[in-house]
Amino acid sequence: MKIGIVGLGLIGASLAISLRSQGNKILGVSRQEATCKTALTKGIVDQASTNLNILTNTEIIIVCTPIQSIVTTVKQLIPYLNTDTIITDVGSVKYPVVETCSQLWPNFIGGHPMAGDTKHGIAAAQAHLFNGKAYVLTPTPNTPPEAIEKLKAIALAVNAIPYICEPAVHDRVVSLISHLPVMVSAGLIQSCLQDEPKVLKLAQDLASSGFRDTSRVGGGNPELGVMMAKYNRQELLRSLLRYRQNLDQMIDLIEQENWDNLKLILQTNQQARPDFLN
Ligand code: NAP
Repeated sequence: MKIGIVGLGLIGASLAISLRSQGNKILGVSRQEATCKTALTKGIVDQASTNLNILTNTEIIIVCTPIQSIVTTVKQLIPYLNTDTIITDVGSVKYPVVETCSQLWPNFIGGHPMAGDTKHGIAAAQAHLFNGKAYVLTPTPNTPPEAIEKLKAIALAVNAIPYICEPAVHDRVVSLISHLPVMVSAGLIQSCLQDEPKVLKLAQDLASSGFRDTSRVGGGNPELGVMMAKYNRQELLRSLLRYRQNLDQMIDLIEQENWDNLKLILQTNQQARPDFLN
């Protein structure tokens, strides 16, 4: 199959490596000439260019640019498409992207491979990034069934597990399991930073694995955090407000020295956590 990939960064180049290793012809488009050269030198793609016109006659195009460029990229692609070309994206928020892109191109289907890394750019690309990871597809009632089937096959080809859900449901779920944890973890780091210098210094010296786990996502790339808040604003606010209610409830229980009810909450959590991690 002839597959186009726009945006040869972590996700785009990783998809390219994996799909090319299975005999697909990969045409890559990226913003910088240097990235295109790297993609060719490393054998990540068969052809590379900074110009979208090399994507004429591709069967599937996967848009892997930063989220703010997805809609513009889809608009710019339209002159080069055959009527049956399928476009998909990999953006980590789906509703605003799908709402616009499916109007622009009926054969558009939203996608989100739920794999990542703290590093970004083509240098961070990995052949096995998607192994065993979920690959969410978010069709609308008007998405052609063939597009869904072809994208399921792409997800399976990169050894991921395809899931189908509505764009809005996807955004609610990622607000809970991905975007809320970033904000909670960011609040944790801020709370430590706001203590007096002597306490802060000792906290920095003593912090160990527990703090490493709980601060990891809040101490990551600030641009990604802002992107989550900006593009998934409603769902993130909903999750944060619910989190605040839970925090208030725990504050009340501790103020009232209601250890039994606090323990009940912690017991429920201990039992529930494995269901999120299996
Ligand atoms: P990334 O490593 O920064 O890669 C994005 C690449 O897109 C850049 O390297 C840049 O390449 C290229 N680019 C930027 N604007 C472009 C444009 N207008 N046209 C063509 N190429 C352009 O980012 P990423 O982590 O792969 O993320 C890409 C997408 O995947 C985002 O939409 C994100 O929401 C989604 N996603 C990310 C993760 C994750 O954990 N990182 C997970 C799942 C989904 P040049 O080098 O040419 O400038």
